[in-house]
Parts: sequence; C-alpha cells; structure tokens
Amino acid sequence: MWLVISPWNFPLHLTQRSVAPALALGNAVVIKPASDTPVTGGLLIAKIFEEAGLPKGVLSVLVGAGADIGDAFVEHPVPGLISFTGSTPVGRNIGRLALGGAHLKHVALELGGNSPFIVLEDADLDRAVAAAVMGKFLHQGQICMAVNRIIVHERLYDDFVQKFSARAAALPAGDPNKFETVIGPIINAKQLVSLEGKIARAIEEGARLVVGGDRVGQVLPPHVFAEVTAEMEIAKDEIFGPLVGILRAKDDDHALALANDSEFGLSSAVFTKDVEKGLRFARSLKAGMTHINDIPVNDDANAPFGAEKNSGLGRFNGEWAIDEFTTDHWITVQSSPREYPF
Ligand code: NAD
Repeated sequence: MWLVISPWNFPLHLTQRSVAPALALGNAVVIKPASDTPVTGGLLIAKIFEEAGLPKGVLSVLVGAGADIGDAFVEHPVPGLISFTGSTPVGRNIGRLALGGAHLKHVALELGGNSPFIVLEDADLDRAVAAAVMGKFLHQGQICMAVNRIIVHERLYDDFVQKFSARAAALPAGDPNKFETVIGPIINAKQLVSLEGKIARAIEEGARLVVGGDRVGQVLPPHVFAEVTAEMEIAKDEIFGPLVGILRAKDDDHALALANDSEFGLSSAVFTKDVEKGLRFARSLKAGMTHINDIPVNDDANAPFGAEKNSGLGRFNGEWAIDEFTTDHWITVQSSPREYPF
C-alpha cells in the first residue's frame, strides 16, 4: 500500500501523478490531501475512480491537518512507500521517520525549489524578459518550479531590470474570475504574512525595490527587487509568491556559481543564443531539470520530473515513475539438483 501526501498547489495533478501509477502497478493507495484543498486533492479523485468502477478499499482518502495526523500515517507499518510532494522541512521529517523509524520504507520526495533564471551575455533580451515574466508570475509564483532568482550578465542587467519591471508592473491583478487577471489571490493568510515578511526583509537587507504596491485583500501585486545579492533571504529561500530579486553576474562563470549557490536543485532556465553553450551550462547546473531558452516551469508526462539536493529524491513520469514505484525481486528455480561442494 502506498501513502500519497500532496500539496495545495495543483492539487489534482500532484495527487494524481502518484495515484495513477500506483494503481496501474497494482497497489492500494491512501491519499492525504492538503488541508486547503481536500476536494480537488483527494475526494474528487476518489469519486471519479469510484464511478469508473475501482473496487472498494483500493483507494481511500483521509482528510486532516498534516501536523496532527502526518507522523502517525508515515510511521504506520502498512504503507511501504510514501510519495510526498510539499515543502522541504516537512519532506525532510518524512524522510527521517521513513528511514529512521521502526519500519524502513521507500520514499519519493518532491520538495521545494529555488529555480534560477539565468540570462547570459548573448541572450535575446526581449525573449528572456517575456519568459521571465511568465515563469515568475504564472499562478502568482505559487509553483515549485517558478522563477525564484533572476541572474543577469552585467552587460544586459540595466536593460533587463527596466524591461522586466515595466512588464511586471503592468500585469493585471485582482479578481481571478476575470479573464484578463494574471495576479490573483495568495492561497491563505499565513502565506500572505510570510510574503510580506520577505518584502520587508529584502528592503532591510538593502535590495532596491523597483516595482511594488499595496495588497488588496489576498491579492499581492508583483514586487521586483534589483541589486539583490546571494546572501539576501529573497535569493536564498523559496518565495512561492509574486516577488523576485534580480542578481548581477560579472560573467558566465559567475552566473553559474550564483545559480549553484543554493541548497535547492529542482528546475532552472538559461537564456543564450548559443545552444552548445546553453547545453554546457545546463550540464554544470546542479538541478534535476534545466530548460534552455524557456521557462523553468515545465512538466511533460514523458520526461523525468525531479530534483537534486534538498529539492527531493526520485523522479516522476513515464518509465521513471515505474522504476521509482516498483522494486526488483530476484526469483530463481533450480530444476535439477545442484552439486554443492559440502
Ligand atoms: P507542506 O509541506 O506544508 O504540505 C504538504 C502536505 O504535507 C500537505 O498535505 C500537508 O497537510 C502535509 N503535512 C504537513 N505536515 C506533515 C507531517 N508532519 N507529516 C506528513 N504530512 C504533513 O507544503 P504546501 O504548503 O502544501 O505546498 C507548498 C510546497 O510544496 C512548496 O515548498 C513547493 O515548492 C512544494 N511543491 C513541490 C513540488 C515538486 O514537485 N517538487 C510540487 C508542488 C509543490
């Protein structure tokens, strides 16, 4: 039996990407959806499988706060594999319990990110700006693969900051029911308070606020900071909101060092007109995924989705999910008696 614990962002997809292979590979599953999204993250999926004729007891959903029921779930002797998608601190605790407790279990961990978006000296500036805006502000930045740091070669830096900021400031914010809205509400009050703290600390630490504005209800407008350095919290921590810092790189090697200077290693993006250079750069990045001349937010059913460092363990999708979620079992049959030496 598998335990699938999922987060509130993209709840249907991020639950289903573990549930579908688990069932297809012959396992029963218990889903623990996030408390903000119990319906799309679990109950709706169970209803669909029920209507499709899945036998009773093969798929169950238990709704509750992870802080209350999570540990008991993970430590329970029945689940042999814990598929967890969520934050790095919670994932680390799950890894500790699953590997250090009474019952050793397999873990598949898809955790937090800090995707660098790197603009090298020879990049197409307008294309890079358009991608950075999309990769940062899609779903108001509440995506594990969202652009978290922008690293720009110093020759392009001022132009990039000016063009990116102009685009960010013009993004329509407000009611998500309106077709034109790009920046909708932040998921909950706790996350909003955390983002406001990050804005205050970025200013305290000396970052230059280029685009800002007051929040209206749960809607926080884009905030763009220039002259951000690697030690600042806004560059080091996962943001998960419509804020971003832009770092200045002296040259390509410096850009690579800045990009790798992170405990996280989920997705990344690099912009250059020289594809060979982009490939060399990508191979030197310590990340599970790198997209050359595209946004870091990409997920294809036939491509390996996963991370390095504190962003996770294992890979989702396609044959990688099959490897991840099955074990090898060597069975032999001796058809005629063997001559043993003693
Ligand atoms: P979270 O870690 O707070 O919660 C994720 C899930 O874990 C929820 O269902 C929650 O109830 C449960 N949980 C909480 N405490 C637990 C415990 N002690 N034991 C077991 N389960 C527990 O994360 P979140 O705020 O829901 O989601 C945002 C985070 O998820 C971000 O860090 C984001 O980067 C990450 N994320 C990663 C991916 C990926 O594929 N790498 C995808 C989406 C989100």
